Amino acid sequence: MQDKRFSIRTYGCQMNVHDSEKVVTLLEDAGLSAAASESEADLLVINTCSIRDKAEHQLYSDLGKLREWKAEKPGRIVGVGGCVAQQVGDRLLSRFGHLDFVFGTHHLRRVPAMLDGALAGRRAAWVGEDESQERFDLPARRPALATGPRRRAFVTVMEGCDMFCSFCIVPSTRGREISRAATEIDTEVRQLADQGILEIMLLGQTVNAYGRHDVRRGRAAAAGTMPFAELLGQLDAIPGIERIRYTSPHPLFYDAALIRAHGELEHLCPNVHLPVQSGSNRILEQMRRRYTRERYFEILGALRAARPDVAITSDLIVGFPGETEGDFEQTLDLVRVAGLVDSFSFKYSPRPGTGAAGMGAEVPAEVAQDRLERLQAQQRDQTLAYHQSRVGQEALVLIEGPSRRGGHQVTGRDLHHRVVNLDLCSSLEPPGAAEPGTLLPARVVGATPHSLLAAPLDPALLPGAEDPDFPRSRLKSSKRRADETESVDCAGGLAEDVLRVL
Ligand code: SF4
Repeated sequence: MQDKRFSIRTYGCQMNVHDSEKVVTLLEDAGLSAAASESEADLLVINTCSIRDKAEHQLYSDLGKLREWKAEKPGRIVGVGGCVAQQVGDRLLSRFGHLDFVFGTHHLRRVPAMLDGALAGRRAAWVGEDESQERFDLPARRPALATGPRRRAFVTVMEGCDMFCSFCIVPSTRGREISRAATEIDTEVRQLADQGILEIMLLGQTVNAYGRHDVRRGRAAAAGTMPFAELLGQLDAIPGIERIRYTSPHPLFYDAALIRAHGELEHLCPNVHLPVQSGSNRILEQMRRRYTRERYFEILGALRAARPDVAITSDLIVGFPGETEGDFEQTLDLVRVAGLVDSFSFKYSPRPGTGAAGMGAEVPAEVAQDRLERLQAQQRDQTLAYHQSRVGQEALVLIEGPSRRGGHQVTGRDLHHRVVNLDLCSSLEPPGAAEPGTLLPARVVGATPHSLLAAPLDPALLPGAEDPDFPRSRLKSSKRRADETESVDCAGGLAEDVLRVL
């Protein structure tokens, strides 16, 4: 397959983005290379997401358009993976004659064999639950992929979900909770550190439930798992890893040890994305979230006591069946009292097969839209206020690349996972001082609702420093600020809906 090139369309969350990365590794190990664009590809894989409304229709529309793509060049192959594939299964093959293979979320490792089969004219679907550890058994990431410019990597620690929130389809598409052996995780993180990765994002549908079933049943040693806080402690000690984040936790699984970890672990970043979904206890119960707003506040209080600068972000749903104006106001109130630095908010939409789908009591679309807009306006104000509060503070920015604003501006993330843009001088000295992957100390000098603006602490990197007439006083004052520096901030922004072509 040396001459074959592939392209992957990825919809959805970080889990899906990471699954696509795994498929890239599998295909590259099988001898394929990444195509520069879909028009140059021999294999096109669509990695689907079912969290949003009409995901199935989106896939059908994509597949319909791909008839022409496939017909343009003999031998082209089309594969579909992800959550919609897991749900719909081989019915996709019956419906689309030009589709060659379908793989569910537990069957990534079968992709190369399915491609082989497809090239020999055999169509196949692998879906359904795989409860073995084999689903984690994937080749080590290729250095070229791991050392991409961002020097950040996802690491799967558990998959699946046993919570069955009444609005969510994930337990049907990702199956039951299963935790990966800690030695496997440790080995992967050490390999990533050796390849130059500085930041890891631990992934799991309920990531802080890691190991809980094994611990409860007294079989953690046999399964090679442990409580989540212990896993964090183990990874914190790996040389070279500067930043550790995790997503998405569930409020139910915050225990004293995990709270303590936030105060004690050197590399655990001070940002927590803790989905709350609603501020109304009545709606939380209907959602089957298994906590109250009071318990949510208690967790935030404990996190802040352990790590005062922790930045909390969240997910929220408006217009859940039966949500009254009073319930919604409770959500606005929670966002304010919790001091959420940012949030992702959505209008509820029913998913067939979930508990809430048959509840009735629908909130009219225009009411849900109005609530969404009010919530997002409040959040914008809060995010701006938080960003403004950071002006004057230092930030250690992991540079990702040139800013979309152009000029000599670069962009990156601070410890709190906030987006930071920096203006630089046009001729960097030393060259590469702000290359992607650099950790650049800076000071926050401005704020917008979406990002922070910062200036490098090193005066030689400031805009205008290349000019011989650059005011010496500016260099001096920057130097003084740099000397006064003691603390470093951190932050994290969470990818939301992503459409990415790898
Ligand atoms: S915890 Fe709830 S919202 Fe999160 S994946 Fe599980 S069922 Fe879905």
